[in-house]
Amino acid sequence: MSAEEAAARHGAPVPHGGLWFGQGGWAPPPEICRAQLARAGAAVTARYGSRVARLARVADGWQALDAAGTVMAAAPVVVVANAYEALRLLAPRHMTIDRVRGQLTTLEPAALARLGEWPDCVVTGTGYLLPRAADGTARVGSSYEPDPQDSGALDARPAVHAENLARLGALLPALAGSAAGLDPATLKGYVGVRSVSHNRLPLIGRVPDEVQAARDAAALSGARLRDIPRLPGLYAALAYGSRGLTWAALGAELLACQIEGEPLPLELDLAEAIDPARLLVRALRQGTVASGDVPAEPVPG
Ligand SMILES: Cc1cc2nc3c(=O)[nH]c(=O)nc-3n(C[C@H](O)[C@H](O)[C@H](O)COP(=O)(O)OP(=O)(O)OC[C@H]3O[C@@H](n4cnc5c(N)ncnc54)[C@H](O)[C@@H]3O)c2cc1C
Repeated sequence: MSAEEAAARHGAPVPHGGLWFGQGGWAPPPEICRAQLARAGAAVTARYGSRVARLARVADGWQALDAAGTVMAAAPVVVVANAYEALRLLAPRHMTIDRVRGQLTTLEPAALARLGEWPDCVVTGTGYLLPRAADGTARVGSSYEPDPQDSGALDARPAVHAENLARLGALLPALAGSAAGLDPATLKGYVGVRSVSHNRLPLIGRVPDEVQAARDAAALSGARLRDIPRLPGLYAALAYGSRGLTWAALGAELLACQIEGEPLPLELDLAEAIDPARLLVRALRQGTVASGDVPAEPVPG
């Protein structure tokens, strides 16, 4: 779509032409979650506000225990899907998940009125903007800030609002002057945390048995992913980075096929690219997993 067409048809005075995704759209994440839960029906029992303190391996599977050691749930198969906090539950040596803070800026109707015409579609480039929601607000985002210290601060920061207004100015230069006139200290927003692996691809699949791999390190020095010992019945769906809402359904389908022994919905090289054991394989090849260096049990039980 040319810049002229974008401006005329969508009120988007972009600086140059781009790709038009006619079926593109936007949705609030809670609504996606609610819709998926509704579709799952009785297959899912949601238990909100429940915190798993540790996982225990038992004869016929796994138990999830709370901080008091009470069994919250037990099952032959567990999928660990708690983002960066999986590092605490699994205590892996060869899996990294970094925290990356992301802040969106909300533009209230009054601010939008000062900016002028606002696009009726999503515009993406270096950042993105969303059309007006039902309540008349619109959003611009988003920041990508490494947060290694787990600052825990999910308060929106004015300096990051200013960065988002600069992103808006780059997407729609005609609005840059008015955007710069907005006071970042008066703006509200949303802050979330992304979980990101060492190479930004997610960690989806069977969790490796690092204790066994360390014991067998010499024999596994030339190992491929399929040779790596795994913890029976334990799967991961982690480190979705900036794509979790888009990729989670495919990730879940991949896991379901692995669990049920069905053909995978991805080519093998793609499934291997997101295998949670990929850093372990690299370490075994590099000889940095010493056979005498057996880590503590990754999952106490
Ligand atoms: C600003 C921003 C914009 C984004 N935009 C997009 C986008 O446009 N498209 C897209 O696809 N993705 C987007 N993402 C990324 C998307 O939000 C994530 O990839 C997605 O939320 C990851 O889902 P998750 O379930 O793996 O992790 P999370 O959403 O982080 O959920 C993990 C859950 O585990 C729970 N938990 C943690 N520890 C425990 C425990 N011990 N016991 C029980 N529960 C526990 C937490 O409370 C939390 O509810 C965006 C992210 C941000 C921050």
